[in-house]
Amino acid sequence: MSRKSLGLPDDLHEYLLSVSLRETEVMTRLREETAEHPRAHMQIAPEQAQFLRFLVQLIGARRTLEIGVFTGYSALAVAEVLPPNGELVACDISEEYTEVARRYWREAGVNHQIDLRIAPAEDTLTSLLDDGAAGTFDFAFIDADKETYDTYYEKSLQLLRPGGVIAIDNVFRGGRVTDPAPDDESVQVVRDLNEKLHTDERIELTMLPLADGVTLAMKR
Ligand code: SAM
Ligand code: CA
Repeated sequence: MSRKSLGLPDDLHEYLLSVSLRETEVMTRLREETAEHPRAHMQIAPEQAQFLRFLVQLIGARRTLEIGVFTGYSALAVAEVLPPNGELVACDISEEYTEVARRYWREAGVNHQIDLRIAPAEDTLTSLLDDGAAGTFDFAFIDADKETYDTYYEKSLQLLRPGGVIAIDNVFRGGRVTDPAPDDESVQVVRDLNEKLHTDERIELTMLPLADGVTLAMKR
């Protein structure tokens, strides 16, 4: 679903990649290995990973959060550009998927900067808040189970410092957000969240038609 921007013709997508994609060799190998995975569609598009990398550097992020790791491509994109004292708290429930991630993070020399927590992300975010981490994160990327997106957003917002940014993936749900009567709960949840954010006074907001739609929310 997120392999390239919805509606972007294949030839233009190939052109975009041919003139702008900058990937480290480890990222390319991880992307190629994941392409053979039965759930390969879960990985973010390469131009989206590059965008996240750009953003993380732009805001000078040091403490970052990822909700939904899979085989570790988006986490690697971010971790590689963190400062030496930077860190990424990475949340997933799958040992199987993240075993691949750990292998590539080690190869890229960023494993020591990634704190992988295998547990429901909601629990990990709650324990971070209980440990007094509110207001200490610079960046969060939300890309796990869509039914829990509202909780991920609320808890991430608490964890962020003012000026920190949350990136939310798949806000178009493959185009289904415009369906007048979606039969999929995840579409309804994401649509409700999109509408909530439109008037949320706690943030600055932009929604990008990148990949399957990416919302950026900057905490005021
Ligand atoms: N960002 C990843 C990338 O670029 O490759 C893709 C993430 S994939 C779309 C979603 C991930 O969320 C899966 O690896 C899945 O195991 C994880 N997940 C699903 N439910 C979860 C939960 N309740 N808590 C934490 N992770 C969860
Ligand atoms: Ca996604």
